[in-house]
Amino acid sequence: MNLPERKISRRELLKLGGLAGLAGALRPTAWAAEEAMPAEPALPQVPRRVLGKTGEKIPILLMGMSLKLDQKFDPRLAEALRFGVYYYDNARGYANGTSETAMGNFMERVGDRKKFWITTKSPDHTPEGMERNLAESLRQLKTDYVDLFFMHALRDKKYLSAETAAAAAKLKKEGKIRYFGFSCHNENVAELMQEAAKLPWIDAIMFKYNFRDYGNKELNDAMDACHKANIGLIAMKTQGSAVSFEDRVAKFAGGKWNRHQAVLKAVWADVRIAAAVSQMDTLEKMKENIAAALDSSPLSAADQAALRRYADETAHLYCAGCQHICGQALPPGIQVGTTLRYLMYHDSYGYADEARQLFAELPAEARQWQHVDFTQAAALCPRRVDIAQHMRRAAEVLA
Ligand code: SF4
Repeated sequence: MNLPERKISRRELLKLGGLAGLAGALRPTAWAAEEAMPAEPALPQVPRRVLGKTGEKIPILLMGMSLKLDQKFDPRLAEALRFGVYYYDNARGYANGTSETAMGNFMERVGDRKKFWITTKSPDHTPEGMERNLAESLRQLKTDYVDLFFMHALRDKKYLSAETAAAAAKLKKEGKIRYFGFSCHNENVAELMQEAAKLPWIDAIMFKYNFRDYGNKELNDAMDACHKANIGLIAMKTQGSAVSFEDRVAKFAGGKWNRHQAVLKAVWADVRIAAAVSQMDTLEKMKENIAAALDSSPLSAADQAALRRYADETAHLYCAGCQHICGQALPPGIQVGTTLRYLMYHDSYGYADEARQLFAELPAEARQWQHVDFTQAAALCPRRVDIAQHMRRAAEVLA
């Protein structure tokens, strides 16, 4: 493996030096080019699970690539790899198209494509659009194939068609993709998953799933159907983050694990799920996630109770994206679920630029609600989200 040049700051190093359970393991100085690389003891590797019908084992923790990355060398990519988090979840549009270029540069630096599982996604779901986007992804990623190719944020069931199946088969035959599926975080995810369960050519699905979904019978039935059909299931948006104003409510008070770790462990406890993707934007978060993945002990009863309590206390701050419900009482075109998701990116994730960019890409009618009364829409919301309050905030920070 080539040694990248970028040094990790002393501050980061000191932080990493005190990792509980990983003491001495995360040693980023090993990446400093001018230092001799010390003999490294075998590092603990994140456990792996089989991804459905692909028969391939992937780590249970995946590196989400919707991040601003150092284009030359990003230490987060390197640290993930060292601990067996070799699955990198890319998309054409992540970080304004720069995640794929950073990934390509990093893979080139490491010099061994086989060390990586690369997933990417096409925003265009037509056969021609997928082919065009894949060609661009391969160019940016500096590779001639991806391991898994998704239709990104699928919403329209019409793309689960014979035409799409033929396009996926062609790309596989050409050796440009190994497996095919879709990602989905819209309100009709359960319907799409039920449909996909009937289709032998869907290898894997990445979908929004977190501790707030446990009572969701429709989603659970769809997960059962996919699991029975041996479709590999990957959970995303596992943190179930509040739309905004998270600090106004009681914080999660668990025992052994903090909230980020507890929600991941709750997802991994579901045997239908192969893996969870996480945007590990700091080394600190990565350390916590890896520590949670390496510890096979289940969540304690106290942690489970704390998670349930937290879910109850913050239910009114979490938008589930079911905008077909509140949309019944709104003028056509207004997308409450999508807008509040972008607000969550802004307020909870801290991705201000990306959130504003995504919001700007919405159709004009989805961005004009200044004179809309949200009272009736809020009355329909099963989670009692204060839609008017959050939409006001969205107008302030996203417009
Ligand atoms: S505001 Fe409520 S009804 Fe509307 S999308 Fe969010 S959770 Fe669903």
